[in-house]
Formats: sequence, structure tokens, C-alpha cells
Amino acid sequence: MPEVFDVIVIGSGPVGSGFARRIIEQNGPCKLLLVEAGEDLKGSGGTNIRNLQPQDRVAAYAQAESFPLARLPDGLPDNRLKARPGTFLARHDALPEPDDVAMPAAAMSSNVGGMAAHWTCACPRPGGAERIDFLPAQQQDAAFTVAEQYLSVRQDGFPPSPQADFIVERLRRDFGAGRTPNRLPQPMPLACRPGVDGPIWAGVDVVLGPLADPATRAEKGVELRTGTLCRSVLHSNGRVTGVSLRDLASGREYNVSSGIVMIAADAFRTPQLLYASNIRPDALGRYLNDQPQVISLIELDPDRQWQTQQDAETNDQRDSVTGVSWIPYADDDFPFHAQLMQMDTSPIPLEPKSDGSGRPVVGLGLFAAKQPRAEDRIIFDGGEDALGMPRFRLDYCLSEADRSLQAKAHDVVERVGASLGRVVGKPIILPAGTSLHYQGSYRMGSVDDGTSTCDPNSRVWGFDNLYLGGNGIIPTPTACNPTLTAVALAVMAADHAVAMMRKQQ
Ligand code: FAD
Repeated sequence: MPEVFDVIVIGSGPVGSGFARRIIEQNGPCKLLLVEAGEDLKGSGGTNIRNLQPQDRVAAYAQAESFPLARLPDGLPDNRLKARPGTFLARHDALPEPDDVAMPAAAMSSNVGGMAAHWTCACPRPGGAERIDFLPAQQQDAAFTVAEQYLSVRQDGFPPSPQADFIVERLRRDFGAGRTPNRLPQPMPLACRPGVDGPIWAGVDVVLGPLADPATRAEKGVELRTGTLCRSVLHSNGRVTGVSLRDLASGREYNVSSGIVMIAADAFRTPQLLYASNIRPDALGRYLNDQPQVISLIELDPDRQWQTQQDAETNDQRDSVTGVSWIPYADDDFPFHAQLMQMDTSPIPLEPKSDGSGRPVVGLGLFAAKQPRAEDRIIFDGGEDALGMPRFRLDYCLSEADRSLQAKAHDVVERVGASLGRVVGKPIILPAGTSLHYQGSYRMGSVDDGTSTCDPNSRVWGFDNLYLGGNGIIPTPTACNPTLTAVALAVMAADHAVAMMRKQQ
């Protein structure tokens, strides 16, 4: 007899974990299975790996690299793109070519917590055209509030410092005109809590809340099953009936039944799983969207005397007290999301260039909002990956409009540099996929017209009980970091699923 669950969630990243927490909070205990292909790195229960001691961090990254899709084949070129720690590239042999047609830096993670075991925790709310206009604004705002609680989002993760105050003050002076108070330049909302040596970063241990504790999970009927690949979703006549799973250690394959299935398996592997399940709406895998990214270094006002705090590990001129500051996206005036980061919070390692003067250097990351287009897509055209799932490749490029926006990003770098001090060196355009913010590939729509994969409640069009979650569901062109939005949409979807469960009782 197959096991029977009320709800099965595929993927234990912040979205899958958010699904699980919301279902249990709103419904009360029920039989919920959270399926994760990867392992719990160092048995840390979904903690952000950046919180671990250096030797444990190294061991956790090594464990992540042993996941079958992450293992590097022999004979790769030396000049290939390298994945960031804890992630692996969709194409191990991708080169850093200016031609970004196949999105060379596209990456994934497979472990408890997904990418959020490794993320940088910036959690801004979207604004203007970034928001989804066909969802009721009040409902969205309420869901953002819950998502902020689940992720433990705050603006005081870093203690105040003269550098951080200077940055926000100058940015408000030079980029604040015409903005409402909540969209002024400000400290970045971060998923963290203050700690003695700096912020303690949120992972899915935080998102799961009480369910992070195995005893509480058992009490509430929740099971986290790691090292388990979902091979396909079982369905007939517009209803899912369960899923087919494979234990990756033993190779054992088995089916489990469920009243509801929710998939949060990232922007590439959610479409992959649907494709493998023969659920292939026209928009599946299309409208793939990544945020073109430009980075630069900025030296703060050279005419001031700064008390800098040198980084103990590197003993260089990195400033470790500026925290993270944010210039929010603003439709026509500022179609970018800007984050200014002290070096150790930058997800992209930037070489600090300093003349030894002790003046603080911060990293500026600019994300642009790319226009979603059907032709930017995930293509399944035969073959299998190392786990026996449909192999995919990416077809993707920037339009003329996207390229002109990218060019404007250089002007913005100059303006930010002039506002705060001076730009050091030349801004760098990063290869497509570097943002790690892949959206649109199973996007939500207001009507089933072939341009979306799921409805406003996150259910796959034509299915009663199959919900999707993650950045791939976001239909709008966004520049801001998407995880908060994805968790907010998961909260709304979970509420809908609970209402369905109640109706069926
Ligand atoms: P993921 O976290 O990707 O989790 C998906 C999980 O599904 C994975 O663990 C995977 O193993 C599992 N899975 C996939 N397929 C299957 C299957 N068939 N069966 C079973 N399991 C499966 N975002 C921000 O908003 N702000 C930031 O500052 C930020 N910084 C980042 C910095 C870094 C270095 C990285 C790596 C990411 C960053 N991100 C950031 C991105 C952020 O981590 C992701 O947006 C977020 O984790 C997406 O959550 P998710 O739950 O949808 O998917």
C-alpha cells in the first residue's frame, strides 16, 4: 500500500519550507511530506552556511559539491565559469563569453534549504511595475508581511555606523526626489538577526520556524525526506493523485499518494518535473527572466577622515561596518535595484582595490528589470541528466531595449560614484545568470491564454490540486531580489490550499 499524505511539497528551499509552515499554521497538524533531493549539509537543519565556523563551512560546501548534478566531469576548460560556493552551474563547461545566449552562469543548489543555505538575504519589497497588478493589493501586502515574519526581515541587522549613515544620507539627497517615504534610499531589509560578530543570516531553519525542530515536526505530522528525488507527479483528469519518488542512495523507486501537491523545485527544475510528468502547458519554460547585473567598486568620500574597521581575516582595506544599503526600483526614473554592500556581504567576490589610505570601499550591485519574452526559454529536446530527469538547455538573450537599459546602468554607476565619492576601476557586466534570480519560467497569469502556466492562486491551469511556488512564478519584470516575493506568493497559495482542504473535509 502506498503511503498517503494530505500534502506533498517538493523542494525544501524557502518557498517549499514556507508552504509547509503556512499549511500547518493555518490548517493545524496534517500529514505533510517535504521532499528534498539534496542532503542536510553538515546536519545543520537548513541553517545559512555563512553562519557556520570556517572549517564547517568548507565541509558543507564540499558536501554540496558531491550532489550528482554538481559533480564536475573531467577535462573541463580552465577558463570556464565557476559556480559560487554551494551552487552548481546548469552547464559545467560554460565559458565567460560576452555572448550570453545560453545564460552561461545559470546555477542551482541541492541541499536542505536550497539556495537559501547560501544566500545573501536581501529581502526588499517590489514596487511599481514590479508588483503583480492582477492580484488584490491588500492581499499581496498582507502576504508580504507574513513573508517578512517567516524570513525574519529587518533593517537593523548591522549596527549603525557613520559610513552607513553617510551612504543613506547622500543617496537620499541625490536619488530621493519624487519618491514616497517607503521607496527612499534606505538600509536594505535583510533576513537576519543581529549577532555579536555581525548579522546571523536566515536559512530555512528560520523559515520553518517551529517546524525546524524534528520533534515538533513529528508532532504536527510533518516529515522532511532528504536525498529523495521526485521523478514525476501522478495525475489523471486534472487532479494529481501523488508523486513518484526515488531514494537517491539506494535507487529504490516508489509512489506515494497525496490530496495536494505543491512544487517549489526552482525556476529550472519545476518546469523539468512538470515536463517529466507530461504536464506541458504552452508557457512552460518560457518567459525565463534573469536580472542583467552590473557591479562596481566605490570609494567613499576621499575628503573625510574615516575610522575603518579592517577585516580581520584578510587584514586588507575592506570596510566591515557599512552594512547593506538600498536604492529601490522606481518605474521610469530608476528602473534598477541598487545595493551597496560591504565587501563580505557581496555575493560576487570583488577584489578590493585600495591605495592603503584606509578609506572605505563598498561594492555596488545594480540589477536591471529585463522585459519578459516568450523566446527566452528552457528547452527540453531529449536526453537525461545525471539523475535521469529530462535534460534541458537554455535559449536566452537580451533584447535591444534590455541592452540600452544595461548601458544606462553604467551612467547610474557614475552617478552613485559621484554621490558617494568615486568609482574605482571600471564597472563589470556580469554574464547572464549571475543574478541567481531566475523568474517567469512557470509564470502566473490572470487568464489561461497560453502565456502563463498557473492561475492567480498558483495552481497549474486545468488542475485542482497542483500548486507551484518559487521565483519562476513571478510574471512581472523585476529588478529587486525575488525571494521575499516568492515566499509571499507561497503564503497566498498555501492559504488557498488550506481552504480547499477544509471544503473537502
Ligand atoms: P531553491 O532555494 O532553489 O530550492 C529548491 C530546492 O528544490 C533545492 O534544494 C532542490 O534540491 C530541490 N529540488 C529540485 N528538484 C527536485 C526534485 N525533482 N525532487 C526533489 N527536490 C528537488 N535571493 C534574494 O532574494 N536575495 C538575496 O540576497 C539573494 N542572494 C543570493 C546569494 C547566493 C549566493 C545565492 C546562491 C542565492 C541568492 N538568492 C537571493 C536567491 C535565493 O536563494 C533564491 O531566490 C531562493 O532560494 C529560491 O527559493 P526556492 O525555494 O524557490 O528554491
